Amino acid sequence: LLARVAAHASLGAFLAVDEEIALAQAGAADLWRARGVDGPAHPLLGVPIAHKDIFVTRDLPSTAGSKMLEGYRSPFDATVVSRLAAAGAVTLGKLNCDEFAMGGSNENSAYFPARNPWDASRIAGGSSGGSAVAVAARLVPATTGTDTGGSVRQPASLTGVTGIKPTYGRCSRYGMIAFASSLDQAGPMARSALDCAHLLQAMSGFDPRDATSAEQPVPDFVAATTARREVATADQPLKGLRVGLPKEFFGEGVSADVLTAVRAALAELERLGATLVEVSLPRTELSIPVYYIIAPAEASSNLSRFDGVRYGHRAAQYKDLNDLYRKSRSEGFGPEVKRRIMIGTYVLSHGYYDAYYLQAQKLRRMIADDFQAAFKDCDLIAGPVAPTVARPIGSQTDPVAEYLADIFTLPASLAGLPGISVPAGFGAGGLPVGLQLIGNYWQEGALLHAGHALQ
Ligand code: GLN
Repeated sequence: LLARVAAHASLGAFLAVDEEIALAQAGAADLWRARGVDGPAHPLLGVPIAHKDIFVTRDLPSTAGSKMLEGYRSPFDATVVSRLAAAGAVTLGKLNCDEFAMGGSNENSAYFPARNPWDASRIAGGSSGGSAVAVAARLVPATTGTDTGGSVRQPASLTGVTGIKPTYGRCSRYGMIAFASSLDQAGPMARSALDCAHLLQAMSGFDPRDATSAEQPVPDFVAATTARREVATADQPLKGLRVGLPKEFFGEGVSADVLTAVRAALAELERLGATLVEVSLPRTELSIPVYYIIAPAEASSNLSRFDGVRYGHRAAQYKDLNDLYRKSRSEGFGPEVKRRIMIGTYVLSHGYYDAYYLQAQKLRRMIADDFQAAFKDCDLIAGPVAPTVARPIGSQTDPVAEYLADIFTLPASLAGLPGISVPAGFGAGGLPVGLQLIGNYWQEGALLHAGHALQ
């Protein structure tokens, strides 16, 4: 695999690879296996993985895709990283992403964009673009990503892999470089729902180091993925499952080719025994302004720690402390990050706080309530992940137009609900299209089960 990673370096999936560490870990896994230490305690023994560069790691640099953290070495491992290592996984390296996870195309990486293996002139999606490319190009069987407003689901969709964002609080955020803390969640990406289940199992669970991690029992995700529903028959494994189709997800704003692929996947769900029902998420459109107020607000606060003093880039020359801050931050952050810090500072400032931030918080609550109303009539919600297939790199220069493409992933993020993207088929140019399934809180098992049935 290390040779394959090197041979496909032009795809831009990796920001760091450490052969020595990977080989040492793999050797250790072999030793353990020789001693018979395989099995339940080490379910991922010897499985090669790689982490989005948002997770801090002791053995490899952690940059968050930013010049601000170029060459930064963390003194500790993120909880998700140490849990996967404890399960036996071998880490090959760190994966490219949009700077501080801000973006949906990987073009905001301070280093280079990750390229879509289906057509290298196109985006891989983002912000976990490197994580998606590494799986889609078969560089590693599974990776970690993070999803704040769609960053696991959307790149999974655009590259034809499976990715799940669990319920907010399911995975620890300790050691995940923070973007918008009330939204950030870790999630696995892999070739199948079943592989995702194996990773999610190891990643999940309460962590006293993260105050927002939930004291919620972790079910057996692998068993849930392959479970037989009580009412199921041999050819109808999804019998009795009610799948809600929000009418707002199927209107204008979705390209015809994506709609066709999504509808084909829905027909397949029906063939597998599911019933399709129409539901409504009336505030879907509002999720864009709500997210693009709340996420930058939290980002502006989280990113204040990059001051050139404690860690990160420091300007070479400065007059006084203020000049040090100004120069270090001007040099270290890219344009999208600066834009979000400015938006965030503005919406939190005295005189505008009530009009923007407070209103956004209220609407966020209503968006979550809309989902609960919809879940009265269905078990899962289905729709597209992204409005179009992967666009060419460099073809979008209007940031607001780019934000609009997040419309189908933001509602679940704002509500804290789990969502999965599974391959639905192909759209324009033979490019992959994902089907999104959204579940109620802690229902990752049901998402993985339905995704598995489709695969
Ligand atoms: N595209 C969204 C944004 O730019 C989502 C990013 C994410 O989930 N990290 O904020």
